[in-house]
Amino acid sequence: MLWQDFLELLAPSPFVCDLCQQQIIDEGLPGCRSCLAQLELRLRVLQVSGIPCYAVGVYQNRMKELLREIKYQGNYKAAFVLGMILGLACQEEAALQGVRWILPVPLHANRIRKRGFNQARVLADGMIRVWKRPIYQGMIRIRDTEPQSDLSPVERRKNLQQAFMITDAKVLLGQQVLIVDDIFTTGTTVQTIASLIAGYGAVPRGLFVAKSLSLKGLGGNVNAT
Ligand SMILES: [Zn+2]
Repeated sequence: MLWQDFLELLAPSPFVCDLCQQQIIDEGLPGCRSCLAQLELRLRVLQVSGIPCYAVGVYQNRMKELLREIKYQGNYKAAFVLGMILGLACQEEAALQGVRWILPVPLHANRIRKRGFNQARVLADGMIRVWKRPIYQGMIRIRDTEPQSDLSPVERRKNLQQAFMITDAKVLLGQQVLIVDDIFTTGTTVQTIASLIAGYGAVPRGLFVAKSLSLKGLGGNVNAT
């Protein structure tokens, strides 16, 4: 054993923040105080056609940078930290205590290969570090849909309807299921998955890291506060 390792055993080095790689984090927090402040965290309620949905941040500033790093630069650690933040939010929110399953929005295998991971799944892995719930794995994405951002709401829904398949339905009956994703834009994905699992008797809820700043083209059935 090296002398340095021995010293570490006696006095473990404090954790460095995974978001900035600079500041030391206080015990019990998922990131340093500076990063957490920049993320402007609070639980925002989103109204999605009768499905209770929440977001902890807004897609702007530092939050936007981080979510883009996760998606385009494979920043796995940031996704895990944001997942822990979601887990802490769940711990605090009374309306979510009845949740039985966490359901990260599935990504098609082609995209997982390209990116290295499904960011929604990493969020869920971070969540369960602090909020003990099982991850529902009985849904797969069978179609590699087009990127949603270029499409109109009607086109998005059409595009998504056939994209998901349930492989384990019986555990859903009568259970609250929390659908988890990174960004809430129009709500089409969460609505599509919610109606699919509701068909098997589940009671859907939704949780997002950030809501889109401009919620355009919502057709009047999705509002954000
Ligand atoms: Zn930091």
